[in-house]
Amino acid sequence: MLQCKNVTDETSNFIEGDLPLSKRIALFLHLVLCRCCRNYVQQFRQTINTVAVTQPQEMDTTDRQALARKLHAMCDKTNHGDS
Ligand SMILES: [Zn+2]
Repeated sequence: MLQCKNVTDETSNFIEGDLPLSKRIALFLHLVLCRCCRNYVQQFRQTINTVAVTQPQEMDTTDRQALARKLHAMCDKTNHGDS
């Protein structure tokens, strides 16, 4: 089973359709089960769309990484916040 951090690692490939089918399925299944990663993928998509529209020449990965960290921290809290 995929972990949340694997999802954040693979999201750009997933969105760009650049993953083998087995990985896509694993990722999809994780998204079905994990609300947090669903939010992440959704936000990631929006970020890419925004960047693509406003600055097609500059696909800056810093924003994406910052977003990944932020959502990942949120995710950890959601999944392990009960302790
Ligand atoms: Zn997850």
